[in-house]
Amino acid sequence: MQNAHCEQKHGHGVARGPRPSRGNGKNNVPACPYCREKDEVIPILYGFPTHAGFLKAERGEVYLGGCEITPYSHYCKRDDREF
Ligand SMILES: [Zn+2]
Repeated sequence: MQNAHCEQKHGHGVARGPRPSRGNGKNNVPACPYCREKDEVIPILYGFPTHAGFLKAERGEVYLGGCEITPYSHYCKRDDREF
């Protein structure tokens, strides 16, 4: 499977915010503004995903946003909404 129409920089260009040092850092996501829960919130992964990204998406750990960058950074599986 080839992804011909998706420009992507190679390398690890994933922008990550500063890691909060408190808590266990396991589920580092904001609460959903719709249901106010975090347990169904996953980060949106933009661009062509790496193999690891695909695996994470299959496990429901990330939402593949594709090449089209939107202002949203997270996705709630419960509400099926990006925010
Ligand atoms: Zn929600």
